[in-house]
Amino acid sequence: MKRLFGTDGVRGIVNAELTPLLVAKFALAVGAFFPEGSRLLVGRGSRAGGEAIQRIVEGALVLSGHKVYDAGVVPTPALQYAVKTQGFDGGVVITASHNPPEYNGIKVIGPTGIEIDRDEERVVEEMFWEERFRHASWRSLSERVEKYPHVNDIYVKGVLEKVDRGLIASRGFKVLVDPANGPGALTTPRLLRELGVKPVVINGDLSPLPARAPEPTPESLAEAAKTAALLKCDLGVGHDEDADRAIFIDEAGAVYWGDRSAALLAKHLKVHRGERGRVYTGVSSSTVVEEVLRPLGVEVVWLKVGSVDIAHTMRKMGDALCGFEENGGFMYPPHQYVRDGAMALALFLELMALEKRRASELFGELPKYYTIKTKYPMPREKALLVVERVKEAFRGERLGTIDGVKVISSDYWLLVRPSGTEPLLRVMLEAKTEERAKELLEVVDGIVREVAGP
Ligand code: MG
Repeated sequence: MKRLFGTDGVRGIVNAELTPLLVAKFALAVGAFFPEGSRLLVGRGSRAGGEAIQRIVEGALVLSGHKVYDAGVVPTPALQYAVKTQGFDGGVVITASHNPPEYNGIKVIGPTGIEIDRDEERVVEEMFWEERFRHASWRSLSERVEKYPHVNDIYVKGVLEKVDRGLIASRGFKVLVDPANGPGALTTPRLLRELGVKPVVINGDLSPLPARAPEPTPESLAEAAKTAALLKCDLGVGHDEDADRAIFIDEAGAVYWGDRSAALLAKHLKVHRGERGRVYTGVSSSTVVEEVLRPLGVEVVWLKVGSVDIAHTMRKMGDALCGFEENGGFMYPPHQYVRDGAMALALFLELMALEKRRASELFGELPKYYTIKTKYPMPREKALLVVERVKEAFRGERLGTIDGVKVISSDYWLLVRPSGTEPLLRVMLEAKTEERAKELLEVVDGIVREVAGP
């Protein structure tokens, strides 16, 4: 059966792949998936076509026999938190998260607040392809889609409750926020003010034409990093479009990947907050995390890349301290089992307040590696072929094949895997020296050239 779902939801270029017809059919499949009469919360990000797509989705859900609530423009984790805490039976968010601006997409949320799992996705896909929709009786249809404008309030309050506000407020922090012109602009600056922190916001107007790439990376956050240093901020944070990711910037303008901040946050939870459990992450995370956490007696569980699987696994196991992805998605179970950019930020501020140290000092303690992350545009079949060739080239090393191939050696590790959402091969590698890292990239580059052809 052909797949609709990628790593996290259905994504496509607006009106090229994600056409009105596809949206309507998909929403009818989602409508048939939820039991008749469900209370469903629907919200959206700031992307092109978002409001129109939301109307199509809401219409299809009403005609499938549901009671539909319109949350308006909200971060994904805000809608997820509201679904979980306000007794909704599920929800839908119109967003393409970190994808380029020409994309939009649809995430389907279950009653726990987590995106529906892989088996449930298959059920929705079956209903889509076989057009097994539910056309509810005209007598039972809802008369209207109810406005539900409380999501961002409920969410900010929920995050605030989980940290020591007084302690954070006592430090007089100033924090730069770059929400990529997405709905994080509605919640993160507000959260900071409530924490007694002064927010400085760039790219803070909602727009389908974001001033930077929606994916928070050292490249896309270059302006944020420069501004944070220039304005003497204590910390900077960059979100993706739907604000479930948080990438941190120190006071000197250095940008850190999510596995670095997660190592510090997990340590904070264990050491300062006395919380227990294992740490769940995808194979794309750095082995730095193990180096930091093992001496504290915290076990790291390695899983396939994709936050949805990580979230469901954590919830099923019931023993998670936290979970994360290197891309900046951090999950704190006492709050919710999903990535949450604002929650990660609040915890990081609590850590800085407790330690009374600058962000650069906290990050500076982590083991040093030279990191290269790159991607090659290519169809999935070719990407899989590269993975096979890499396995051959590194025969004899410790190989992990949970997702693509991860090579782990004494002074480096590398991961080569096809993207779950785009026609891309993703390569990540870290070595103790820059020279070694470049050498390793050369090897992968050579294999890619061979497979891709001239
Ligand atoms: Mg996202």
